[in-house]
Amino acid sequence: MSCIFCRIVAGEVPAEIVLRDSEVVAFLDVQPLADGHVLVVPRAHVAQLEDLEPRAADALFRTVVRLARPVREALGAAGTTIGVNNGEATGQTIAHVHVHIVPRWPGDGAGSIHTIFPRHIKRKLPEVGAAIRDRMT
Ligand SMILES: [Zn+2]
Repeated sequence: MSCIFCRIVAGEVPAEIVLRDSEVVAFLDVQPLADGHVLVVPRAHVAQLEDLEPRAADALFRTVVRLARPVREALGAAGTTIGVNNGEATGQTIAHVHVHIVPRWPGDGAGSIHTIFPRHIKRKLPEVGAAIRDRMT
């Protein structure tokens, strides 16, 4: 088992665990973007969000919601940025789904999620909406 998150889930690699249950483990990122940066991972090794079983997806996002306030309050933060790099092309470096919860403070120097996109928009909204709807099962 070479996946670092699977090894943390299995208890083979130490981590600062903040929550562990039957579906999900949450722990502090060892290379935090800010104090209190938490990663929430499903126990199952799944590379991308869309490959999660519904039950695991439910548990993952319930846990993110459950942790958002304690993380914010524990760090005295004003809010949290919550995000997922979903796929290698997005900068996902570990192929095991993980949700970042990063505490934020006014003037902390970090931008919003909007700031990571150069907004190279080429297609009309109705065309894009129809293409997505056509692929929903
Ligand atoms: Zn894994």
